[in-house]
Amino acid sequence: LPEEFIQAIPVINKIEEAGFEAYFVGGSVRDVLLGQPIHDVDIATSAFPAEIKEIFPRTIDVGIEHGTVLVLAQESQYEITTFRTESTYQDFRRPDKVQFVRSLEEDLKRRDFTINALALRENGEIVDLFDGLSDLDNKILRAVGNPHERFHEDALRMMRGLRFVSQLGFELEPHTLAAMKENHHLLEKISVERIHIEFMKLLLGNHRKDSIHAFFETECYQYCPGLKDRGEALLRFAELPDNPISTEAQAWTLLLDCFAVSEQEVSCFLKKWKCSNQTIQETRQLLWGLRQRKQAWWKKLTVYQLGLAQSLRVEELLIYYTIEMKKKETEEMSCQLPIHSLSELAVNGNDLMKFLNKKPGKWLSQVIQTCEQAVVEGEIVNEKEALLNFVKQKLLKEESQ
Ligand code: ATP
Ligand code: MG
Repeated sequence: LPEEFIQAIPVINKIEEAGFEAYFVGGSVRDVLLGQPIHDVDIATSAFPAEIKEIFPRTIDVGIEHGTVLVLAQESQYEITTFRTESTYQDFRRPDKVQFVRSLEEDLKRRDFTINALALRENGEIVDLFDGLSDLDNKILRAVGNPHERFHEDALRMMRGLRFVSQLGFELEPHTLAAMKENHHLLEKISVERIHIEFMKLLLGNHRKDSIHAFFETECYQYCPGLKDRGEALLRFAELPDNPISTEAQAWTLLLDCFAVSEQEVSCFLKKWKCSNQTIQETRQLLWGLRQRKQAWWKKLTVYQLGLAQSLRVEELLIYYTIEMKKKETEEMSCQLPIHSLSELAVNGNDLMKFLNKKPGKWLSQVIQTCEQAVVEGEIVNEKEALLNFVKQKLLKEESQ
């Protein structure tokens, strides 16, 4: 057992001592068996939330209506969820009602894929009711039970399936794949936020290419914002070199570049996906930088405007266009810039107004920008006297024209 599980054993023991069952379940069990690092340890139990709260002195209600209590113990925190069934899905998303039950089997039955429906006892024994172990061995992603019914209950499972293809490199079992092809339209009912999370995991997974092909083949892409008429472009995106993508903004940048989306359209596209303002801004910068850098070596002004971190993110994207990445040279270029932000400029608005004896106005920001550019491009040294002189010359010249 990995360290994270060993540390949690006393938690399981305490639940058992109180007369209930408790198991490790979900993605962490799957990932441990795959020899992959785990992120969250989920525990499922026959104890009801109120009973868990009696057993542990320190708990936080995080989703008590779904049966989840966060337990603070062993210098860590554990999501402990009561065994439950989900009944009568009427809207193809989320259950109308969750029912707490005492049986592990009932709980495992409602899980999405066989490899996610394994439970692990604290003594190392594995409960494998749906042949999840053999699917793990054979790298097969198979819905638990009847795939058609399972996607009807919760259509998000189709997107989850596709992202597991990308993260794990597994193949969709034929009936599971067929059920996706048949039910893709149910994704219409799923909120963009939930689709976004899965789609991003798909884009950042190590087996992106296979996953995008399945995304295309099942037609699930048609129910994702802005992708409906972009099937062909998606396939072109799948043909990019296989290197994994590191960040969300980089993923969007590559995708939008493939779609030939203009810089003005970026924000509109990403807003439909409910991206954060930060992601939108980063993506706009990266796309702007990338399109220049694909054509030619950096201009000083571009590196200055992007900043070093974003410039390096652009460099990383060159792999996908089989252009040599030059991080060291980019870093040197950024280092050698005379200034790195406007605050380092040797003149400010007050200096200029005083010197020219003019009131503030639109002219001021233009003059400052001219100074900034001239300094960055090395046309003039970053010294107050020199800059004021430079401005005076410029204005005189403009007046005489
Ligand atoms: P990750 O490693 O990304 O966390 P995960 O499989 O743990 O992957 P979670 O969203 O953390 O995904 O869900 C934990 C477990 O809950 C899953 O392994 C699965 O058993 C179950 N589960 C989650 N979402 C669904 C769903 N939509 N339908 C059925 N079961 C689900
Ligand atoms: Mg998880």
